[in-house]
Amino acid sequence: MSEFPRYQKIAALLAVSIVVIVTLAAISASGSNVDDDDTTAAANAEAEPINVPILERPRALWSDIAPTIRGAENTTSPVPCSYVDEREPEPNNFLSLTPALTFICDQRGLPARPIAPGRVVMIIDQPPLNSFKADLVSAGNDGPWLRAVSYGPFVVIDHGPLNGTANATSVYAALDSINPDLRLGQLVDTSTDLGVLSARMVNDTIVNGVLAFEFLSDDTRFGSDPLRDSPVSAAQSSALAAKLAPSFRLPAPTCTLPFGNNDLVVGAPREYRSGTHNGLDFNCGTVDHEIVASADGQVIFVVDDYVDAPTEDRNGVLANAAQAIDTPFWTLAMLYGNVVVMDHEIPGVDGHVVTISAHLSEVAENIVPGALIEAGTVLGQAGNRGTSTASAGVLDNDGSVHLHWELHVNDRPVGYLQDPVDTEPLYRQILCGASATDAGC
Ligand SMILES: [Zn+2]
Repeated sequence: MSEFPRYQKIAALLAVSIVVIVTLAAISASGSNVDDDDTTAAANAEAEPINVPILERPRALWSDIAPTIRGAENTTSPVPCSYVDEREPEPNNFLSLTPALTFICDQRGLPARPIAPGRVVMIIDQPPLNSFKADLVSAGNDGPWLRAVSYGPFVVIDHGPLNGTANATSVYAALDSINPDLRLGQLVDTSTDLGVLSARMVNDTIVNGVLAFEFLSDDTRFGSDPLRDSPVSAAQSSALAAKLAPSFRLPAPTCTLPFGNNDLVVGAPREYRSGTHNGLDFNCGTVDHEIVASADGQVIFVVDDYVDAPTEDRNGVLANAAQAIDTPFWTLAMLYGNVVVMDHEIPGVDGHVVTISAHLSEVAENIVPGALIEAGTVLGQAGNRGTSTASAGVLDNDGSVHLHWELHVNDRPVGYLQDPVDTEPLYRQILCGASATDAGC
């Protein structure tokens, strides 16, 4: 995937950005409508120049395109406005990487509404992190978590099976604010206000009433690649584990390690959500266990204010997953509770390595998107947020307090779709190398 370390990529992007800004200034001064010249072409050797600025592109209505998108037939437009198709590659517009539709309403304050009935599975109310946008643009695409932090305030709806698909999910992003009455797990329909539209910079113009919208059917982005590719072979997993091991340490060093129990590792069945386990469970028993960064890296996504859905609503979400015979990406993310997602550059590993530390009772104050931290830095305290016990109103219950921890390479857990008998040694190798004397290793 990426050939360069993140910092080099950002530096390269800055260089390109400066050239683009200078070029834009020159174009502006000359009054020319030509949006390219030799200087820009040279600087953008790896990226196609902008051909048509977004605001000058053809617009269309959701009702025109919905019948052509698998799973979106007979749905309602999220806003009563036309959209610009953002699937055109464009070097300085991160939305073009999502592949999203940008609805432009020319008016602030309009509500965004679900395209069909469904359950709220994600509510993130934080401003977009522009430095991450830069990274996304320079790398082409760095996965769903970085993209999510670049969205600004957003809401995700799991529609369950829709129009012949096993699962449909819609994302409403770049909101100005989110409806304060909205709750995780809540059943919503096409009349529910999700949040209000903002003004946003689109290219170099402030545009009122912008909604960035994504639609996923069966975890496949509209017009793009699947969130998860086919599994790697056991031999590839083993080679990967050997490369990862020198950089990793135990994420919950004082909790019980999952090794020796195949129900607590990757590949174990998780019938309650009709899927399989994508991580390791470290049983902690009490919340006074520190959860630490398992490797040096950057914090890229954080939920620290999680409010558990009531059991009835959580079960409604799980019922949607049952239809899909797997837990869709954003639905699984809801079940993480308070969570810290980190991105790691690991020598010798091609592509992005991501870790997910879930169910925390508390996230440490300094753990915010963008923070660069070292292995061993405290991320927060063990907890049970996002579990059925917390959903029933019993927070930080002894028996249910555990760290759910995932390790992904290029958006796929190490050992994905492999048998627990085969994944257990992989993770033992990755996490116990530097701490073989720890109990349980
Ligand atoms: Zn787990």
